[in-house]
Amino acid sequence: MNVESSLKWMKQELASMEEASLKRSLQAGSAIPGLPGRMLRGTGELNLPNLLNLSGNNYLGLSQHPAMIEAMREVLLQEGVGAGASRLVTGNRPAYTELEEAIADWQSCEAALVFANGYMANTGVIRAVVGRDDVVFSDQLNHASIVDGILMSRAELARYRHNDMEHLGALLHKHRDRKRKLIVTDAVFSMDGDQARLEDLILLKHEYGAMLMVDEAHSGGIYGRHGEGLCHIRGVKDEVDIHMGTFSKAFGAYGAYVCGSRTLIDFLVNKARTLIYSTAMPPALVAGIAQALVLVQQEHWRRERLRTNHRSFRSHLEKMGFVLGIGDSPIVPMIVGDNETALRFSAALEENGIAAVAIRPPTVQEGTARIRFSLSAAHTDKELREAAACIREVGLQLGVMGR
Ligand code: PMP
Repeated sequence: MNVESSLKWMKQELASMEEASLKRSLQAGSAIPGLPGRMLRGTGELNLPNLLNLSGNNYLGLSQHPAMIEAMREVLLQEGVGAGASRLVTGNRPAYTELEEAIADWQSCEAALVFANGYMANTGVIRAVVGRDDVVFSDQLNHASIVDGILMSRAELARYRHNDMEHLGALLHKHRDRKRKLIVTDAVFSMDGDQARLEDLILLKHEYGAMLMVDEAHSGGIYGRHGEGLCHIRGVKDEVDIHMGTFSKAFGAYGAYVCGSRTLIDFLVNKARTLIYSTAMPPALVAGIAQALVLVQQEHWRRERLRTNHRSFRSHLEKMGFVLGIGDSPIVPMIVGDNETALRFSAALEENGIAAVAIRPPTVQEGTARIRFSLSAAHTDKELREAAACIREVGLQLGVMGR
């Protein structure tokens, strides 16, 4: 059997995805909000579009910060590109430990550990802390990396309805005799922008003797006086056993952190396979993150600007009669329903100079296809007002809004 015929089933699957408006393809990059001229890069060859990015995760507008670029450039010139080995072999350097100390200070916790990215942090941590005889209680809307971590761990997956504490309570009760129980939740849900019921999760955790892990990918850097995250402003951070966040969003960089007790971190250094069996982060990236951490703590105005931006953008769309997901976060999902309308909406926005992605099943539930807007401190008032007017026009053309 030649390759063409042995992979025929892939072609068939792709064709049925296409038919259901569910096929994805990689798009050319779009502009970063706030950059002068808004061009990402002008190469004749690639012909990248000059779009206003309304779907990125560069929440604080840090990804182009000169101090971060300079910090990375210096280390790049001194130490080169790659770390050369995993941290437990010869890849470790003082800068990694210094960064972890700075993270622990920022989070007021005993210790922290850096991972290559959020996906590897979640899969590595979950697989390390639970196994075949255990059970993990996971919100139905948790990020895919959490679900994959649970599958990799071989623990039983007990999925509870989104933010439904009664359902979670019933599942905890059912599994009350299991030795090790882990509750996992996103702090801010990535496709809906709403927040976890952290206080209730703490009560249930205590009642059933479970561990609690919170993923602050979309809240770290954004909430709290110094961007510590949602657990801090809700006053529950000392009750969270495993606190995870990423550097890929508000920090404008790449990578992830896990914070908690010294015991937890020592354990992960010994058991988290995505740390042990993977090459250490490039040293220049460590320097970039360290600089981002300083900026996140110092530049409060970015959080304030972001909040003003997402609140005013949301209120523009609400007044226009669009159906939005609930929540007070930079993620503003505009629900359009069917997959094809979502794709047409996104394509029409692109024609009008706006990059805003259509999110379809299986990422979200059937019938809730949406445009996921996400705001940045780097957007200007004018950009957002013009974008809202354009969204209104497209909404009217496609008959999407109520008014
Ligand atoms: N957790 C959540 C809630 C996320 O939204 C994401 C990224 N979309 C991740 C984890 C993975 O993070 P990373 O992109 O750094 O791998």
